[in-house]
Amino acid sequence: MHTLITINVTVDKMGKPVYHTKIEHFWCDNCNVPLLRDACNKCGSIGSKIEVTPPGDIRPAFDYDLNLIREVFNENFGKDIGNNIFPDDKIILLNNAPSLDKMDEIIVDGKVLASVQYFLQNDGYKPHLRLKAASMINRAGGNKWVRCDEGAVDAILQSKNLLSPGITAAERSIKKGDEVYVINPESETIALGIAYKNADEMTNTKGLAVKIRRFGFSTYSQLPGGQSWEDVVQANEKVLKKKEEKAKKFAKNVIENVNRDVCVAFSGGKDSLVTLNIVREVCEEEEIDFSVLFVDTGLEFPETLEYTEDLLRDLEIDVKTKKSDEFWKAFSKFGPPGRDFRWCCKTCKLGPITTLIKKHFPKGCLTFVGQRKHESESRARQKKIWKNPWVPGQIAASPIFDWTALNVWIYIFWKGLKYNSLYSNGFERIGCWMCPSSDIAEFRRVSEIHPELWKKWDNAIAEWSYERGYSQEWLKFGFWRWQRLPKSQLAIATELGVEIKPKKTYDKRLDLQIVTGVRPCLGEKKVSIEGSFNTSLDIEKTANMMNCISKPILNKELGIVMVKWNGNSAWISKNGNVVIRGYKKEELNEVSNLIAEIVYRSAKCVSCGICLGKCKENAIFIEEGNFLIDENKCNHCMECLNSCPATKYAPIL
Ligand SMILES: [Zn+2]
Repeated sequence: MHTLITINVTVDKMGKPVYHTKIEHFWCDNCNVPLLRDACNKCGSIGSKIEVTPPGDIRPAFDYDLNLIREVFNENFGKDIGNNIFPDDKIILLNNAPSLDKMDEIIVDGKVLASVQYFLQNDGYKPHLRLKAASMINRAGGNKWVRCDEGAVDAILQSKNLLSPGITAAERSIKKGDEVYVINPESETIALGIAYKNADEMTNTKGLAVKIRRFGFSTYSQLPGGQSWEDVVQANEKVLKKKEEKAKKFAKNVIENVNRDVCVAFSGGKDSLVTLNIVREVCEEEEIDFSVLFVDTGLEFPETLEYTEDLLRDLEIDVKTKKSDEFWKAFSKFGPPGRDFRWCCKTCKLGPITTLIKKHFPKGCLTFVGQRKHESESRARQKKIWKNPWVPGQIAASPIFDWTALNVWIYIFWKGLKYNSLYSNGFERIGCWMCPSSDIAEFRRVSEIHPELWKKWDNAIAEWSYERGYSQEWLKFGFWRWQRLPKSQLAIATELGVEIKPKKTYDKRLDLQIVTGVRPCLGEKKVSIEGSFNTSLDIEKTANMMNCISKPILNKELGIVMVKWNGNSAWISKNGNVVIRGYKKEELNEVSNLIAEIVYRSAKCVSCGICLGKCKENAIFIEEGNFLIDENKCNHCMECLNSCPATKYAPIL
C-alpha cells in the first residue's frame, strides 16, 4: 500500500526543523482521470504518479482559469493552439508553483504540459512550455518556432544554447523574451527556451539567439478526451467513502469527549464547506444541535456574503455572526498590513471571533474548522485538535486535517455541495479581498471584478505612501506587502529599477523619550526617572487603560493620572510628561517600558476584542467601538495587555 503523504524534515540555518509536506496524487491513464490513491475504482488499473513541483496541493482548473490559459496560448502560439492543447472535454488540474508572483503548472492527461506565470514587468501572463506542449504546438502548426541547421542539433541535445549562425529560419512573430521552441531540419521539436532576439535578427546577426531551457524529443501522445468530474468521482469512490467515514468518526469522537456546545467556523471557502457538511451529517445522525460561526472581516467579497447567507438559510442552520469594522480604523493607526506585519488577522478575524464565542458560549465551545496541514508549513506542525490560545475554554478541531485540496474538491463534486462562485471566477483561495498574502495577479483580478472595492484600498494606500514619499512603482508592484522586504523582493526591486526607500523621512511615531537618567529622590529611599511622550495624550482613556496594572487616580482638572503598584508609581500628564518612581534602580527602565506600552495600547486600541477572551473577570467592555475597563471588576492581572496586538506594532500618529 502506498503512503499518500510523506513529510521530510530538514534543518534550517538556525538548526530549526523545516517541514516539507510532499503530496502524492496519481492518474489513471486508462480512464484519464486523477486518483487520490494509486488504484482506480472505475477500471481497476494502477495509476501512475502525477509529477509536479512540491508541495503539489493540486486543484481543478475552473472556467475562468481555463479561459485565461487558452487565451495566453492562443495569443502566443496562434489562433486555436490554447483550445487544442487544453480541450473542454478533459479533466485539467492546476498546481501552484513557487514563483515571484502567481504561477500555475497545468496538468493534462496526468502530465504537466506547461505553466502560466504572471509577470509583474508587463502586467500580464506568459506561457512556459514543457517539451510535450512544444511538440504539440509544433504539430498543430503553431507560431514561435526556430529552425536550426543539422550542425546545431547535437550541440542543443547536449544542453548548449542556440547561436544565430546555427539558425536557418525563425517564425516572424518572435520577439525578444518570448518562449520559443527549436525544431530540426526534419521539423521535429528538439528543445525550447527564451528568445534573445527578435525574429528578423535571428538569422542575420551573431551571438546568442535562444537560451535553451529544456531539450530532447517528446514521446508524449494525447489521451482520448470525454471525461467529466462524475468519472473522477467514480474512479475515487472507495477512497472518498473511507475518508468521509474517518472524518465523521473523528468528529463524533471529539464531540463525545469534549462535551461542549458544537460550532462550525465557516468562512465561505471550500475547506469550511466540507467541514460543515461532515459535522452536519454527524450531528443529524446523532441528533446533536450545532451552530455556525461566521465573522465578516469587513473585507469580504460581496459574493462570499451572499453565498454564505443563501447556503446557511437553505440548510436551516443556526448562524451566529459578527461584523468587524476595525480594518480602516486600524489602517489609520498601524499603516498597511504586511506579510511580516499581520495585524489584520488579529484585529479583523481573531478579535471578532473571540467576542462572538464569549457572547454566545461563555462556558466555551468546541469549534470545527476546515484547516488542512498542506495549507502551509506552520499548519503541518499543528495537530488535528488543539486549544485556542486566544479564547479560554475553546477547543478547535479539524476533521479534514490530512485532506489534500484535490480530495476536498472531489468530495464537493461527489456530494454536489454548492460552492462559492469566486472559485470559478479566478480565485484559488477565498478570503479578504485585500490581503497582504495575495499575489499582484490576484489584486488585478479583484480590481477587475470589484473596481469599487479596489478603488477604496488603492486610494487609501496611495495617500499613505504619498505622505511618506514612496514612489509610484513601489506602490504599483505591491512592495507595501512587507515591512522589511525579503531578499527575493529586494532582487525584484533592483531588477525593475524600483526605489524602495521613501524620499521623505516620516517620523510620526508615538515614542517615550527618557530625558533624565535614574536619580535619587530627595529625602526618600526611592529613585526616579522622567521623560515625555512626543504628543499629548487622551488622559481619560490613558487612565482607564492603566487599570491593567493598578487602579488609577485621575485628576481631570489638572489632566494628570497617577498609578501605584509593587512599590512603583507613575504620574502621566495630558501633555505627555511622565515621572516614574521606584525602589530598585535596575528595574526602572523596565517599568518605564511598561508604562509606555500601556500608553501605546490606549492610543492604538481599535477595540478588536481579542483581549476579551483573556479577561477572566469579564471586566472589559466594547461598546459602540469604544474599549472600556470596568474599574470595579478588573483585578489588574495584565493578561489583556499581553494579548493585545496593538502593543506589538509601531504606533503611527
Ligand atoms: Zn481507471
